[in-house]
Amino acid sequence: MTMSDVLILGGGVTGLSTAYHLARRGVRRITILEKGPVGDGSSSRAGGIITGLLWSEPGVLARRRALELFRELSDELDGYTFGAVGCLNLFDPASWPDRARLLPLYDRCGAPYEILDAAEMRRRWPALVIDDGLTGLHDPLGGYSEPHEYVPALAQRVRELGVTIREHTTVTGIATAGGRVVGVQTSDGALAADAVVATVYGWTNLLLAPLGMPLPVKSFVHQRYVSRPLATPPAIPAINANHLMGYVRPAHGGRLLAGIESADRTEWRVTGTNFRLTELQAPPGIDAVLHERFSGFVPALADAPWESAHVGLLTFSSDGEPVLGPVGALPGLFVGVAFHSGGFAYNPVSGMLLAEYVSAGRTSIDVSAFSPDRFTAAETAQYLNETVPQRDVVRRRH
Ligand SMILES: Cc1cc2nc3c(=O)[nH]c(=O)nc-3n(C[C@H](O)[C@H](O)[C@H](O)COP(=O)(O)OP(=O)(O)OC[C@H]3O[C@@H](n4cnc5c(N)ncnc54)[C@H](O)[C@@H]3O)c2cc1C
Repeated sequence: MTMSDVLILGGGVTGLSTAYHLARRGVRRITILEKGPVGDGSSSRAGGIITGLLWSEPGVLARRRALELFRELSDELDGYTFGAVGCLNLFDPASWPDRARLLPLYDRCGAPYEILDAAEMRRRWPALVIDDGLTGLHDPLGGYSEPHEYVPALAQRVRELGVTIREHTTVTGIATAGGRVVGVQTSDGALAADAVVATVYGWTNLLLAPLGMPLPVKSFVHQRYVSRPLATPPAIPAINANHLMGYVRPAHGGRLLAGIESADRTEWRVTGTNFRLTELQAPPGIDAVLHERFSGFVPALADAPWESAHVGLLTFSSDGEPVLGPVGALPGLFVGVAFHSGGFAYNPVSGMLLAEYVSAGRTSIDVSAFSPDRFTAAETAQYLNETVPQRDVVRRRH
Protein backbone atom coordinates (compact mmCIF):
# COMPACT_ATOMS: atom_id res chain seq x y z
CA MET A 1 0.00 0.00 0.00
CA THR A 2 2.82 2.40 -0.75
CA MET A 3 0.86 5.13 -2.57
CA SER A 4 -2.12 5.55 -0.29
CA ASP A 5 -2.99 8.19 2.26
CA VAL A 6 -2.46 7.39 5.91
CA LEU A 7 -3.87 9.62 8.62
CA ILE A 8 -2.39 9.31 12.09
CA LEU A 9 -4.57 10.71 14.87
CA GLY A 10 -2.49 12.09 17.73
CA GLY A 11 0.95 13.67 17.71
CA GLY A 12 2.42 11.98 20.78
CA VAL A 13 5.39 9.64 20.66
CA THR A 14 3.25 6.74 19.35
CA GLY A 15 1.87 8.79 16.45
CA LEU A 16 5.25 10.34 15.62
CA SER A 17 6.97 6.98 15.69
CA THR A 18 4.28 5.43 13.48
CA ALA A 19 4.81 8.21 10.94
CA TYR A 20 8.58 7.79 11.13
CA HIS A 21 8.42 4.06 10.38
CA LEU A 22 5.78 4.43 7.66
CA ALA A 23 7.94 7.04 5.93
CA ARG A 24 11.02 4.83 6.28
CA ARG A 25 9.02 2.01 4.65
CA GLY A 26 8.30 4.19 1.60
CA VAL A 27 4.72 5.24 2.36
CA ARG A 28 4.43 8.67 0.77
CA ARG A 29 1.31 10.54 1.91
CA ILE A 30 1.30 10.53 5.67
CA THR A 31 -0.42 13.16 7.81
CA ILE A 32 -0.45 13.48 11.59
CA LEU A 33 -3.49 15.29 13.00
CA GLU A 34 -2.87 16.72 16.47
CA LYS A 35 -5.42 18.81 18.33
CA GLY A 36 -2.75 20.73 20.26
CA PRO A 37 0.93 21.22 19.62
CA VAL A 38 3.01 18.06 19.10
CA GLY A 39 3.59 16.29 22.42
CA ASP A 40 0.56 17.92 24.08
CA GLY A 41 -0.55 14.61 25.64
CA SER A 42 1.32 12.46 28.14
CA SER A 43 4.41 12.16 25.91
CA SER A 44 5.92 15.48 26.96
CA ARG A 45 5.16 14.68 30.60
CA ALA A 46 6.64 11.17 30.78
CA GLY A 47 9.45 10.13 33.07
CA GLY A 48 11.02 8.50 30.03
CA ILE A 49 12.27 5.42 31.91
CA ILE A 50 12.78 2.33 29.75
CA THR A 51 13.27 -1.29 30.73
CA GLY A 52 13.12 -4.40 28.59
CA LEU A 53 12.08 -6.64 31.49
CA LEU A 54 8.29 -6.79 31.15
CA TRP A 55 5.83 -9.57 31.95
CA SER A 56 4.71 -11.16 28.65
CA GLU A 57 6.53 -12.62 25.65
CA PRO A 58 5.28 -10.04 23.13
CA GLY A 59 6.14 -7.27 25.58
CA VAL A 60 9.67 -8.53 26.20
CA LEU A 61 10.36 -9.12 22.49
CA ALA A 62 8.94 -5.72 21.56
CA ARG A 63 10.96 -3.92 24.22
CA ARG A 64 14.15 -5.68 23.13
CA ARG A 65 13.64 -4.10 19.70
CA ALA A 66 12.65 -0.76 21.29
CA LEU A 67 15.95 -0.62 23.15
CA GLU A 68 17.86 -1.23 19.90
CA LEU A 69 15.83 1.48 18.18
CA PHE A 70 16.41 4.03 20.97
CA ARG A 71 20.14 3.57 20.44
CA GLU A 72 19.79 3.96 16.67
CA LEU A 73 17.65 7.09 17.12
CA SER A 74 20.23 8.46 19.53
CA ASP A 75 22.67 8.47 16.59
CA GLU A 76 20.13 9.68 14.05
CA LEU A 77 18.15 12.45 15.76
CA ASP A 78 19.63 15.92 16.27
CA GLY A 79 19.48 16.96 19.92
CA TYR A 80 18.54 13.59 21.40
CA THR A 81 20.77 11.20 23.36
CA PHE A 82 19.63 7.93 24.94
CA GLY A 83 20.55 7.83 28.65
CA ALA A 84 22.24 4.42 28.69
CA VAL A 85 22.54 4.14 32.46
CA GLY A 86 20.79 0.76 32.85
CA CYS A 87 17.50 0.23 34.66
CA LEU A 88 17.30 -1.23 38.16
CA ASN A 89 13.96 -2.82 39.06
CA LEU A 90 13.69 -3.21 42.85
CA PHE A 91 11.52 -5.73 44.68
CA ASP A 92 10.80 -6.42 48.32
CA PRO A 93 10.58 -10.01 49.62
CA ALA A 94 6.80 -10.09 49.06
CA SER A 95 6.91 -8.98 45.42
CA TRP A 96 10.09 -10.69 44.23
CA PRO A 97 8.68 -14.26 43.82
CA ASP A 98 6.19 -13.06 41.19
CA ARG A 99 8.97 -11.41 39.23
CA ALA A 100 11.37 -14.35 39.68
CA ARG A 101 8.83 -16.52 37.86
CA LEU A 102 9.47 -14.41 34.74
CA LEU A 103 13.21 -15.14 34.55
CA PRO A 104 12.76 -18.14 32.19
CA LEU A 105 10.81 -15.80 29.87
CA TYR A 106 13.72 -13.36 29.80
CA ASP A 107 16.14 -16.22 29.08
CA ARG A 108 13.94 -17.51 26.25
CA CYS A 109 13.57 -14.04 24.71
CA GLY A 110 17.24 -13.11 24.99
CA ALA A 111 16.61 -10.19 27.35
CA PRO A 112 19.73 -9.74 29.48
CA TYR A 113 19.44 -9.22 33.26
CA GLU A 114 21.38 -9.51 36.50
CA ILE A 115 19.96 -10.39 39.91
CA LEU A 116 21.63 -8.30 42.61
CA ASP A 117 21.43 -8.59 46.38
CA ALA A 118 21.50 -5.57 48.69
CA ALA A 119 25.25 -5.73 49.33
CA GLU A 120 26.07 -5.80 45.62
CA MET A 121 23.71 -2.89 44.91
CA ARG A 122 25.33 -0.84 47.71
CA ARG A 123 28.75 -1.61 46.23
CA ARG A 124 27.72 -0.52 42.71
CA TRP A 125 25.68 2.53 43.67
CA PRO A 126 26.95 3.97 46.98
CA ALA A 127 24.66 6.98 46.50
CA LEU A 128 21.62 4.75 47.21
CA VAL A 129 20.32 3.53 50.59
CA ILE A 130 19.40 -0.09 49.90
CA ASP A 131 17.61 -1.96 52.67
CA ASP A 132 18.54 -5.56 53.41
CA GLY A 133 16.09 -7.94 51.81
CA LEU A 134 15.61 -5.94 48.61
CA THR A 135 16.34 -7.75 45.36
CA GLY A 136 17.51 -5.88 42.29
CA LEU A 137 16.66 -7.02 38.78
CA HIS A 138 19.12 -5.02 36.74
CA ASP A 139 18.50 -4.45 33.05
CA PRO A 140 21.90 -3.47 31.62
CA LEU A 141 20.34 -2.25 28.35
CA GLY A 142 17.67 -0.08 29.99
CA GLY A 143 17.89 3.64 30.67
CA TYR A 144 15.92 6.78 29.96
CA SER A 145 15.14 9.51 27.44
CA GLU A 146 14.39 13.16 28.12
CA PRO A 147 10.96 13.84 26.57
CA HIS A 148 11.81 17.51 25.99
CA GLU A 149 14.74 16.39 23.79
CA TYR A 150 13.17 13.34 22.16
CA VAL A 151 9.74 14.66 21.14
CA PRO A 152 10.91 17.72 19.15
CA ALA A 153 13.83 15.77 17.65
CA LEU A 154 11.54 13.00 16.41
CA ALA A 155 9.00 15.54 15.10
CA GLN A 156 11.75 17.32 13.18
CA ARG A 157 12.99 14.05 11.68
CA VAL A 158 9.46 13.03 10.71
CA ARG A 159 8.99 16.35 8.89
CA GLU A 160 12.32 15.86 7.09
CA LEU A 161 11.03 12.47 5.92
CA GLY A 162 8.09 14.23 4.22
CA VAL A 163 5.34 13.71 6.79
CA THR A 164 2.79 16.52 7.20
CA ILE A 165 2.07 17.40 10.81
CA ARG A 166 -1.13 19.42 11.23
CA GLU A 167 -1.14 20.86 14.72
CA HIS A 168 -4.25 22.44 16.27
CA THR A 169 -6.45 20.20 14.14
CA THR A 170 -9.00 18.23 16.12
CA VAL A 171 -10.41 14.98 14.75
CA THR A 172 -14.13 15.05 15.51
CA GLY A 173 -15.07 11.69 13.98
CA ILE A 174 -13.90 8.69 11.97
CA ALA A 175 -15.72 8.36 8.64
CA THR A 176 -16.89 4.96 7.34
CA ALA A 177 -18.51 3.80 4.10
CA GLY A 178 -19.20 0.33 2.78
CA GLY A 179 -18.04 -1.29 6.02
CA ARG A 180 -14.60 0.28 6.09
CA VAL A 181 -12.85 3.44 7.21
CA VAL A 182 -12.59 6.09 4.51
CA GLY A 183 -11.26 9.10 6.39
CA VAL A 184 -11.98 11.46 9.25
CA GLN A 185 -13.88 14.64 10.04
CA THR A 186 -11.81 17.39 11.57
CA SER A 187 -12.22 20.89 12.90
CA ASP A 188 -10.92 21.98 9.45
CA GLY A 189 -13.15 19.74 7.32
CA ALA A 190 -13.19 16.14 6.05
CA LEU A 191 -10.08 14.22 4.98
CA ALA A 192 -10.09 10.99 2.97
CA ALA A 193 -7.69 8.15 3.76
CA ASP A 194 -6.99 4.50 3.00
CA ALA A 195 -5.83 3.91 6.56
CA VAL A 196 -6.48 5.71 9.83
CA VAL A 197 -4.24 5.01 12.83
CA ALA A 198 -5.64 6.16 16.18
CA THR A 199 -2.89 6.91 18.72
CA VAL A 200 -4.94 9.15 20.99
CA TYR A 201 -4.19 7.37 24.32
CA GLY A 202 -6.38 9.02 27.02
CA TRP A 203 -8.89 10.22 24.39
CA THR A 204 -9.35 6.80 22.74
CA ASN A 205 -13.02 6.12 23.39
CA LEU A 206 -14.13 9.59 22.35
CA LEU A 207 -13.29 8.48 18.81
CA LEU A 208 -14.02 4.73 19.03
CA ALA A 209 -17.27 4.67 21.02
CA PRO A 210 -19.26 6.55 18.31
CA LEU A 211 -18.28 3.71 15.94
CA GLY A 212 -19.82 1.24 18.40
CA MET A 213 -16.32 -0.12 19.14
CA PRO A 214 -15.16 1.21 22.50
CA LEU A 215 -12.13 -0.37 24.13
CA PRO A 216 -11.89 -1.40 27.81
CA VAL A 217 -9.39 1.29 28.75
CA LYS A 218 -9.19 3.61 31.74
CA SER A 219 -6.99 6.59 32.54
CA PHE A 220 -5.40 7.68 35.81
CA VAL A 221 -3.78 10.95 36.79
CA HIS A 222 -0.05 10.62 37.36
CA GLN A 223 2.66 13.15 38.21
CA ARG A 224 6.42 13.38 38.21
CA TYR A 225 8.86 15.98 39.47
CA VAL A 226 12.35 17.25 38.57
CA SER A 227 14.71 18.60 41.23
CA ARG A 228 16.95 21.63 41.14
CA PRO A 229 20.47 20.86 39.86
CA LEU A 230 22.65 19.05 42.41
CA ALA A 231 26.20 20.25 43.04
CA THR A 232 27.38 16.64 42.89
CA PRO A 233 24.80 14.60 40.98
CA PRO A 234 24.71 11.01 42.29
CA ALA A 235 25.72 8.24 39.88
CA ILE A 236 22.55 6.14 39.77
CA PRO A 237 20.73 4.11 37.11
CA ALA A 238 17.10 4.65 36.18
CA ILE A 239 15.24 2.92 39.02
CA ASN A 240 11.78 1.41 39.25
CA ALA A 241 11.55 1.42 43.05
CA ASN A 242 8.51 -0.82 43.36
CA HIS A 243 8.85 -1.00 47.16
CA LEU A 244 8.40 2.80 47.24
CA MET A 245 5.59 2.75 44.63
CA GLY A 246 7.64 4.98 42.37
CA TYR A 247 10.74 5.66 40.34
CA VAL A 248 13.77 7.94 40.16
CA ARG A 249 16.41 8.62 37.55
CA PRO A 250 19.18 11.05 36.65
CA ALA A 251 17.91 14.05 34.67
CA HIS A 252 19.36 16.80 32.49
CA GLY A 253 21.75 19.32 34.01
CA GLY A 254 22.64 17.29 37.10
CA ARG A 255 19.03 17.03 38.30
CA LEU A 256 16.98 14.04 39.51
CA LEU A 257 13.51 13.07 38.24
CA ALA A 258 11.08 11.07 40.40
CA GLY A 259 7.43 10.09 40.60
CA ILE A 260 5.05 8.07 42.75
CA GLU A 261 1.72 6.46 42.16
CA SER A 262 -1.41 7.92 43.77
CA ALA A 263 -3.07 4.58 44.48
CA ASP A 264 -6.20 5.98 46.12
CA ARG A 265 -7.26 8.07 43.16
CA THR A 266 -10.06 6.76 41.01
CA GLU A 267 -9.93 6.79 37.25
CA TRP A 268 -10.07 10.05 35.34
CA ARG A 269 -12.85 10.15 32.76
CA VAL A 270 -11.98 12.18 29.68
CA THR A 271 -15.37 13.47 28.64
CA GLY A 272 -14.60 15.84 25.78
CA THR A 273 -12.21 16.12 22.88
CA ASN A 274 -11.20 19.59 24.00
CA PHE A 275 -9.87 18.28 27.33
CA ARG A 276 -6.18 19.11 27.80
CA LEU A 277 -3.80 17.70 30.38
CA THR A 278 -3.11 21.23 31.66
CA GLU A 279 -6.49 20.90 33.43
CA LEU A 280 -5.14 18.14 35.70
CA GLN A 281 -3.72 18.64 39.16
CA ALA A 282 -1.54 16.44 41.32
CA PRO A 283 -3.06 15.38 44.66
CA PRO A 284 -2.27 18.02 47.30
CA GLY A 285 0.89 17.19 49.26
CA ILE A 286 2.10 14.36 47.04
CA ASP A 287 5.21 16.37 46.12
CA ALA A 288 6.22 16.50 49.79
CA VAL A 289 5.49 12.79 50.30
CA LEU A 290 7.59 11.95 47.25
CA HIS A 291 10.47 14.13 48.39
CA GLU A 292 10.54 12.64 51.86
CA ARG A 293 10.16 9.05 50.66
CA PHE A 294 12.87 9.30 48.02
CA SER A 295 15.30 11.37 50.14
CA GLY A 296 15.58 8.32 52.36
CA PHE A 297 16.51 6.26 49.31
CA VAL A 298 18.68 8.80 47.43
CA PRO A 299 19.99 11.07 50.23
CA ALA A 300 21.43 13.59 47.73
CA LEU A 301 17.83 14.56 46.97
CA ALA A 302 17.38 15.99 50.49
CA ASP A 303 19.27 19.15 49.44
CA ALA A 304 17.45 19.58 46.14
CA PRO A 305 13.82 20.71 46.27
CA TRP A 306 11.53 20.15 43.30
CA GLU A 307 11.99 22.68 40.54
CA SER A 308 9.21 21.55 38.18
CA ALA A 309 6.18 19.25 38.04
CA HIS A 310 4.43 17.47 35.18
CA VAL A 311 0.94 15.99 35.50
CA GLY A 312 -0.61 13.74 32.87
CA LEU A 313 -2.57 10.55 32.29
CA LEU A 314 -1.64 6.88 32.30
CA THR A 315 -4.04 4.79 30.23
CA PHE A 316 -4.44 1.08 30.96
CA SER A 317 -6.44 -1.66 29.25
CA SER A 318 -8.49 -4.11 31.36
CA ASP A 319 -5.77 -6.80 31.11
CA GLY A 320 -2.87 -4.35 31.49
CA GLU A 321 -1.37 -5.02 28.05
CA PRO A 322 -1.21 -2.49 25.18
CA VAL A 323 -3.90 -2.42 22.52
CA LEU A 324 -2.20 -2.40 19.13
CA GLY A 325 -3.23 -3.57 15.69
CA PRO A 326 -5.99 -3.52 13.08
CA VAL A 327 -9.63 -3.44 14.16
CA GLY A 328 -11.07 -6.57 12.56
CA ALA A 329 -14.62 -5.28 12.23
CA LEU A 330 -13.59 -2.07 10.47
CA PRO A 331 -10.94 -2.50 7.76
CA GLY A 332 -8.68 0.52 7.43
CA LEU A 333 -8.74 1.33 11.16
CA PHE A 334 -5.69 0.65 13.34
CA VAL A 335 -5.17 1.52 16.99
CA GLY A 336 -2.09 1.90 19.17
CA VAL A 337 -3.20 2.86 22.67
CA ALA A 338 -3.23 1.90 26.40
CA PHE A 339 0.51 1.50 26.87
CA HIS A 340 0.07 1.81 30.67
CA SER A 341 3.02 3.65 32.26
CA GLY A 342 5.29 2.43 29.47
CA GLY A 343 4.14 4.14 26.30
CA PHE A 344 7.28 6.20 26.06
CA ALA A 345 9.43 3.09 26.42
CA TYR A 346 7.37 1.26 23.80
CA ASN A 347 7.19 4.06 21.24
CA PRO A 348 10.03 3.20 18.82
CA VAL A 349 8.68 -0.32 18.46
CA SER A 350 4.96 0.43 18.78
CA GLY A 351 5.33 2.81 15.84
CA MET A 352 7.32 0.19 13.94
CA LEU A 353 4.65 -2.46 14.55
CA LEU A 354 1.79 -0.16 13.55
CA ALA A 355 3.67 0.81 10.38
CA GLU A 356 4.17 -2.88 9.56
CA TYR A 357 0.47 -3.61 10.07
CA VAL A 358 -0.56 -0.66 7.87
CA SER A 359 1.90 -1.22 5.05
CA ALA A 360 2.37 -5.01 5.06
CA GLY A 361 -0.58 -6.43 6.99
CA ARG A 362 1.69 -8.35 9.36
CA THR A 363 4.38 -7.68 11.93
CA SER A 364 7.94 -8.87 12.43
CA ILE A 365 7.20 -9.58 16.12
CA ASP A 366 4.11 -11.58 17.04
CA VAL A 367 1.97 -9.09 18.95
CA SER A 368 -1.36 -10.73 18.20
CA ALA A 369 -1.88 -10.82 21.99
CA PHE A 370 -2.17 -7.01 21.84
CA SER A 371 -4.98 -7.13 19.27
CA PRO A 372 -7.94 -4.78 19.83
CA ASP A 373 -10.15 -7.73 18.88
CA ARG A 374 -9.27 -9.66 22.06
CA PHE A 375 -12.04 -8.04 24.12
CA THR A 376 -15.71 -9.01 23.86
CA ALA A 377 -18.33 -6.28 23.71
CA ALA A 378 -19.85 -7.53 26.97
CA GLU A 379 -16.50 -7.48 28.83
CA THR A 380 -15.81 -4.01 27.53
CA ALA A 381 -19.22 -2.68 28.55
CA GLN A 382 -18.87 -4.15 32.03
CA TYR A 383 -15.38 -2.74 32.50
CA LEU A 384 -16.36 0.71 31.30
CA ASN A 385 -19.37 0.78 33.63
CA GLU A 386 -17.20 0.15 36.69
CA THR A 387 -15.33 2.92 38.47
CA VAL A 388 -11.84 1.70 39.25
CA PRO A 389 -9.28 3.08 41.73
CA GLN A 390 -5.69 2.91 40.56
CA ARG A 391 -4.82 0.38 43.27
CA ASP A 392 -7.10 -2.16 41.50
CA VAL A 393 -5.42 -1.79 38.12
CA VAL A 394 -2.77 -4.32 37.11
CA ARG A 395 0.45 -2.75 38.46
CA ARG A 396 2.74 -2.12 35.49
CA ARG A 397 5.70 0.21 35.91
CA HIS A 398 7.37 1.27 32.64
C1 LIG B 1 3.88 11.74 34.82
C2 LIG B 1 4.05 10.62 33.84
C3 LIG B 1 5.21 9.85 33.87
C4 LIG B 1 5.38 8.82 32.94
N1 LIG B 1 6.55 8.12 32.96
C5 LIG B 1 6.79 7.22 31.99
C6 LIG B 1 8.04 6.55 31.94
O1 LIG B 1 8.93 6.78 32.77
N2 LIG B 1 8.23 5.64 30.94
C7 LIG B 1 7.28 5.38 30.01
O2 LIG B 1 7.53 4.55 29.13
N3 LIG B 1 6.08 5.99 30.04
C8 LIG B 1 5.82 6.90 31.01
N4 LIG B 1 4.60 7.53 31.06
C9 LIG B 1 3.55 7.10 30.12
C10 LIG B 1 3.75 7.76 28.77
O3 LIG B 1 3.81 9.16 28.92
C11 LIG B 1 2.60 7.40 27.82
O4 LIG B 1 2.35 6.01 27.84
C12 LIG B 1 2.95 7.81 26.40
O5 LIG B 1 3.40 9.15 26.36
C13 LIG B 1 1.77 7.62 25.48
O6 LIG B 1 2.13 8.22 24.24
P1 LIG B 1 1.01 8.38 23.13
O7 LIG B 1 1.63 9.05 21.97
O8 LIG B 1 0.38 7.05 22.91
O9 LIG B 1 -0.10 9.31 23.82
P2 LIG B 1 -0.09 10.94 24.08
O10 LIG B 1 1.28 11.47 24.25
O11 LIG B 1 -1.06 11.18 25.16
O12 LIG B 1 -0.60 11.48 22.69
C14 LIG B 1 -1.94 11.43 22.29
C15 LIG B 1 -2.18 12.71 21.50
O13 LIG B 1 -3.45 12.63 20.85
C16 LIG B 1 -3.95 13.96 20.78
N5 LIG B 1 -5.39 13.86 20.55
C17 LIG B 1 -6.31 13.32 21.37
N6 LIG B 1 -7.54 13.39 20.81
C18 LIG B 1 -7.37 13.96 19.60
C19 LIG B 1 -8.28 14.31 18.55
N7 LIG B 1 -9.58 14.03 18.64
N8 LIG B 1 -7.77 14.92 17.44
C20 LIG B 1 -6.44 15.18 17.32
N9 LIG B 1 -5.55 14.88 18.31
C21 LIG B 1 -6.02 14.28 19.42
C22 LIG B 1 -3.57 14.56 22.12
O14 LIG B 1 -3.56 15.97 22.11
C23 LIG B 1 -2.18 13.96 22.37
O15 LIG B 1 -1.15 14.82 21.96
C24 LIG B 1 4.37 8.55 31.98
C25 LIG B 1 3.21 9.32 31.95
C26 LIG B 1 3.04 10.34 32.87
C27 LIG B 1 1.78 11.15 32.85
